[in-house]
Parts: sequence; structure tokens; C-alpha cells
Amino acid sequence: MTAELISGTEISKAILAEIKQEVDEMREKTGTVPGLVTILVGENPASVSYVTLKVKTALNLGFKEIQDNQPADISEQDLLALIDKYNNDPEIHGILVQLPLPDHVDDKKVLDAIDPDKDVDAFHPVNVGRLMIGGDVVRFLPCTPAGIQELIVRSGTETSGAEVVVVGRSNIVGKPIAMMMAQKGVGANSTVTIVHTRTKDLAAHCQRADILIVAAGVPNLVKPEWIKPGSTVIDVGVNRIGTNEKTGKAILRGDVDFDKAKEIAGKITPVPGGVGPMTICMLMRNTLRSAQKSI
Ligand code: NAD
Repeated sequence: MTAELISGTEISKAILAEIKQEVDEMREKTGTVPGLVTILVGENPASVSYVTLKVKTALNLGFKEIQDNQPADISEQDLLALIDKYNNDPEIHGILVQLPLPDHVDDKKVLDAIDPDKDVDAFHPVNVGRLMIGGDVVRFLPCTPAGIQELIVRSGTETSGAEVVVVGRSNIVGKPIAMMMAQKGVGANSTVTIVHTRTKDLAAHCQRADILIVAAGVPNLVKPEWIKPGSTVIDVGVNRIGTNEKTGKAILRGDVDFDKAKEIAGKITPVPGGVGPMTICMLMRNTLRSAQKSI
């Protein structure tokens, strides 16, 4: 059996087209467009490339986009003042601070200074709490978990009553996606197990999963015999396992042994081209929803 491929590349394209249409309608009806500020401190090459992609995507969608680059030696106080300025700017609906920040700046203090109603990354404790409560109080879902849930829903995978096993318990992927899948609602209502480095029998838990979500950051952690035949496998891991000598580009692999797993699973995401493209897409959707709410 060869699994159906869940293409994040294709699904994200479709979602971006939907967002663009909503932005066009919003501009026509209200004269307002979503406003996103991306704050980049210093010139870390990976951060520069992430921010460049976010800015390009926002501009393509017709957002107002401010790329606010600050020097690596900006003081914490000045950075907090900058966030305060955007918190009070009615044309800005989303504030994104690219991590990591320089060592002399307290990341937590900076992220906590963002108005929770403009916190489109959904890292603020208020938004983490809202996610835990679920239902109407949720303002934003964190982008990677939201992208994972969207892939599950749009691939037609039944989640109600499904056994979901999440490998990893990080604050940005494992814990939030586990909570989201356990909530009442569409694309959720699942029975969720979280497994991690101290779990006694990882294989036995994974073998029960109708939906297996792997976010460990360990290449080929999940062996083919851990996969329940016909299940949906979402591989969040992005691991650089070498460099392509011809192109000089990094060779990426997920946490699942993809070539063998695809012969057992019913549906599976590739790496790259699975969860990766969904994250920016969900950031844009959060900014759009924030703008809609503000009108
Ligand atoms: P993390 O290091 O913060 O957390 C990893 C988790 O996996 C930990 O909770 C740990 O307990 C668990 N884990 C690690 N090794 C394990 C093992 N051998 N057995 C069982 N559990 C184990 O990582 P993270 O930030 O959650 O990211 C996980 C992976 O997802 C990374 O490869 C990261 O690059 C990738 N990621 C991708 C995207 C994206 O595609 N947009 C976004 C975020 C993270």
C-alpha cells in the first residue's frame, strides 16, 4: 500500500488564495487591510530569511506590512517601547517578534509585552490560557499546531473519537496540538496521548495511533513497525542531515522513516513540503482574523 500524500505545499497555496480573497473583500467594503509588523533584531541569517518570507507573503496578500529591523544592540527598554507603539497603532493587527533575541534581552518579557489581541504567534500566556479553555474565547491558535490541524482536516481524516498520539511536549508544538485535538469541535474531539523522552514504551503508544503527530526533532525516530496500517501520519520534524554537494542546500528529513512509513500509513506528510509551508499561512490567517475582529 502506498499512502496518500498530504501536501502542505498545495494546501497552503489554497489557503493563501482564500485569505487573499477575504483581504480583497475587506478592502472593498471597509477600506481597511490587515496590518502586520515584523520586528527583527540583529542579522541572524536564518531569522533574516524567515522574516523575508513572512514579509513577502504578507505583501502578496495585500496586507499593510512594516518590516521593522532593529540593531542587535537595541536595549530591552527600547524594544519594549517599540512594542508599546505598535500595541497602540490601530492600523497594526498583528505583531511578530522574530526569535531568537540577543542574550541581553529577556525573550519572555518582550513576548509578554505584546497585546494578546495582536499576538498572532499566540505565544502570550493569555492566548495559551485561552487555547486551554477552548471554544469562543480562543482568539489565535499557535501557527504550527494550527497548520497541523488544518492538514488533518483538509486531508479528510476523521478526528472525532480517533486515537491521537503526539510525540513531543514542547510549548510551541507538542503541548498545544495535543490540547487542540482533545477540545470539543470540528477537527478535534480526539482521545489524545502525549509521549516524550521519559515514556516507557514509545512504540506501543504509536502503534495505537489513528493519527500520529511527531514533533521530536530526531531523524527517523519513528520506525515503520510503529505505524498502525492505514493511519494518518503528520511529521513535524525538520532535521538537517547533510548538505547537497551540487546545490549547497541542506538535506532535510523528518522524524519518521518516510520511505518505509508511506507503505504502511493511509496518509502521510512529506518533509519538506508538509507542515513547513503551513506555519506562515496560519500566521497570515491569524492577522486577517485580528483585523476582521477589530472592525
Ligand atoms: P523541542 O526540542 O522543543 O521538543 C522536542 C520534544 O520531543 C521534547 O518534548 C522531547 O521530550 C521530545 N523528544 C525528543 N526526543 C525524543 C525521543 N527520542 N523520544 C521521545 N520523545 C522525544 O522541539 P520543537 O520545537 O517542538 O520541534 C520539534 C521538531 O519540529 C523539530 O525538528 C523542529 O525543527 C520541528 N518544527 C517544525 C516546524 C515547522 O515545520 N513549521 C515548526 C516548529 C518545529
